[in-house]
Amino acid sequence: MRLILLGPPGAGKGTQAEYIQKRFGVCQLSTGDMLRAAVAAGTPVGQKAKGIMARGELVPDDVVVGIISDRIDAPDCAGGFILDGFPRTVAQAEALDRLLAEKSMALDAVIELAVDETVLIERIEKRARDSADGARTDDNAEALKTRVEVYREQTAPLIAYYRNKGLLTRVDGMAGIEDVSAEVVRHLEAVV
Ligand code: AMP
Repeated sequence: MRLILLGPPGAGKGTQAEYIQKRFGVCQLSTGDMLRAAVAAGTPVGQKAKGIMARGELVPDDVVVGIISDRIDAPDCAGGFILDGFPRTVAQAEALDRLLAEKSMALDAVIELAVDETVLIERIEKRARDSADGARTDDNAEALKTRVEVYREQTAPLIAYYRNKGLLTRVDGMAGIEDVSAEVVRHLEAVV
């Protein structure tokens, strides 16, 4: 199963991706987690990404496409993968299409977790308060505003991109976590 979880910051992509990973035995590929690990390890990618992430902006497309291309056909992803936080721009989606075609792979589904902006701002503010230890420096108030704007301007166009390919399903991300999971599973069982 090869799947994309699409949705604004705070929509619950990470929570749902973790659930799907366990339920279907696919690997969870979160570019945000990989970039945070690179920042923590002080790698060249991490050094490049650190300031960009702290501001809530997007890391350059070639950087994230590079880290994803290294992972999608890794042995631990043989059962499939769930992309969480990637792609985030149309250019990334096009690069992913090319990568998958090269490897004779195809996407099974793109699930949009839909959440109203007011609700997601409350959620992200809560996450920022809960991580006051600085574990997530990209969750500060200013970065939050930027992240929501960046989503609206650069990532939301992917909804139409994948709808046009007949891959998109919209799930109400404002329902309870378990209800969202149940809805996602129901859809995945229908497509795979
Ligand atoms: P996330 O945990 O998915 O919200 O990602 C945290 C931050 O990492 C984002 O605000 C971006 O700065 C960066 N990031 C993660 N994924 C991507 C991506 N696909 N393209 C560009 N930047 C990304």
